[in-house]
Amino acid sequence: MKKLLLFLLIILSKAVAGQDLITAKRLIDTLSSEEMWGRGYTRNGMEKAANFISASFAAYGLSPMDGKDFKQTFSYSVNTFPGKMALNLNGKPLIPGKDFVLSPESMGQQIKGTLIQKDSITFINQEHRVLLILKDKLNWSVAPEVADYTVIEVAAKAISTLPEKIEIDIENKFIPAFPASNICALVKGTKKPDSILLITAHYDHLGSLGKDTYFPGANDNASGVALLLNLAEHYAKNPQPYTMAFICFAAEEIGLIGSKYFTEHPLIELNKIRFLTNLDMVGTGENGITVVNATIHPKEFELLQQLNRDKKYLPKINARGKAANSDHYFFTEKGVPAFFMYTQGGIAAYHDTYDLAKTLPLTEFEHLFRLLTDFNAGLMKALSSR
Ligand SMILES: [Zn+2]
Repeated sequence: MKKLLLFLLIILSKAVAGQDLITAKRLIDTLSSEEMWGRGYTRNGMEKAANFISASFAAYGLSPMDGKDFKQTFSYSVNTFPGKMALNLNGKPLIPGKDFVLSPESMGQQIKGTLIQKDSITFINQEHRVLLILKDKLNWSVAPEVADYTVIEVAAKAISTLPEKIEIDIENKFIPAFPASNICALVKGTKKPDSILLITAHYDHLGSLGKDTYFPGANDNASGVALLLNLAEHYAKNPQPYTMAFICFAAEEIGLIGSKYFTEHPLIELNKIRFLTNLDMVGTGENGITVVNATIHPKEFELLQQLNRDKKYLPKINARGKAANSDHYFFTEKGVPAFFMYTQGGIAAYHDTYDLAKTLPLTEFEHLFRLLTDFNAGLMKALSSR
């Protein structure tokens, strides 16, 4: 009987765990779908993602952080590419995203001309201020300003002859005040509601390059949002002694604008945040995770290592120092203790059209979920006994 019960419990716990992964996959599919259009600046992609996250928080039963609205709205400038995106080299049309990308501050223009070779990878048309650079790998990005030049990065493997004749028909649209919002929610603590553990993940991505090409951003950072939403649902069902707070930031890709805005207009007192865990690109894990700020919070890092050794979740936890590479950064600068975690190994797609939900392995996703719930429990225990 005891054995049967144990067997049933194991089956049940596996089934529950499997369910989490199915939920996570569905969330990542939705967030990186064509409908969300790269969660950026065209076809209301970012707004659709914001509405989806707000509705998820509401469905799980979380409260808006300010008591009224899940959205904290702000605006910023951005250069966008909503329309034409045609490039012809030596008479051959190239495909945006696959064969070429632009430097994100590039101006749009319609020209026909010739290129002069400057070195083995650089070609220039002085008259129209066009610079063409050959690259082994293409990465797209997003910029807050528009320049008086056009930089085109072409995949070296996409061309068979050196670029000489060029035709461009590119439209850009500069938006001086693009409206965006951070999505902020919490589950109030049962014993110490003024002590807060905060989980963060950015939901914006790069949007589109022309009217036909979008950047799905499955790993960056639909994966982090999915893990955050899984945790939000879990803590809504299981309130903790401390308040568990959640923020999905906008405008990370353009330079951490959303998280910076929150630290300057906080909806919770920053000194009540006892610890912050930021998740950005957590969809792999063959080589474990890396923890930014590990070296400035050695006690918390040791707690994480200890839990991982005991439960054998992840193959490796790498320590890293301070880095301004995601949304934890401005909190760190304001004295909020914070880790930024990302997974390592697996696929190398990054800021390109190959960062897709269907190829994201989610190797350590469930283990990371468990490590984080254990870590939060451990933090509350350690902080309460201090
Ligand atoms: Zn990211």
